[in-house]
Amino acid sequence: MNPTPDIEIIREKCSGEGLVLDDRQLQLLEHYALLLQRANKTLNLVSRKEQSSLLIRHVFHSLLIGLFHPFQPGEKVLDIGTGGGLPGIPLAIAFPETKFLLVDATGKKIAACQNMIKTIGLTNVLAKKIRAEELKGMVFNTILSRQVAPLPILCSYAEKLLTPEGSLICLKGGDLEEEVREAKSAANKNNGFPAEVTLLPIDRFDECFANKYIVLVSGKIAENPPDTKKAP
Ligand code: SAH
Repeated sequence: MNPTPDIEIIREKCSGEGLVLDDRQLQLLEHYALLLQRANKTLNLVSRKEQSSLLIRHVFHSLLIGLFHPFQPGEKVLDIGTGGGLPGIPLAIAFPETKFLLVDATGKKIAACQNMIKTIGLTNVLAKKIRAEELKGMVFNTILSRQVAPLPILCSYAEKLLTPEGSLICLKGGDLEEEVREAKSAANKNNGFPAEVTLLPIDRFDECFANKYIVLVSGKIAENPPDTKKAP
């Protein structure tokens, strides 16, 4: 498969920020984009009007998280409301030694993710049909979420599922001032989470990311009870 211009853009922009993707990883990202495009014909996984540059708008958008948060080997990551595997699958390709659990409330979307994961041959990612608020007995170093729910809701899920030093990283767009204010004012109810919310603009990576942000949420979470510390 010859590399498309879009995948070359991804290679250059990621390596410029210190995330070096090898040829195999770039091929896997293209393969995933192809499978996502196919699955999207029957399932409403990503917006159709955006399909022309699916690699940039969805795959590269997801990878941007890894430029600001280089995932560590063994790190446990949860993707809440993954839909067709975003941002979890591109990040699992880019960080093969990190463990990703993708969850979504919709069974058909998770079945599509499971098929794509199997077809691509990824071994560091699992997909499960479950609502975030029903997850029990697990903790994660990092929680991700792309275009799923308002920040206060995501924070209320995250504070029960993160390790004390863990963080929530969301991809969001639009005017976030009110959401951030509400999330911060709910912190004393939510186990002290979040203590800090940082909005990182990402428009410099592509014009389609105008008015979009990576939202980094961290906090002093009280230790979750020891019996909830099983690995995913
Ligand atoms: N993150 C994907 C999908 C976004 S659409 C992307 O960026 O393309 C939002 C998804 O979140 C839907 O698939 C919906 O089923 C899921 N969702 C919403 N609330 C949820 C919850 N509480 N737990 C699990 N999944 C949820």
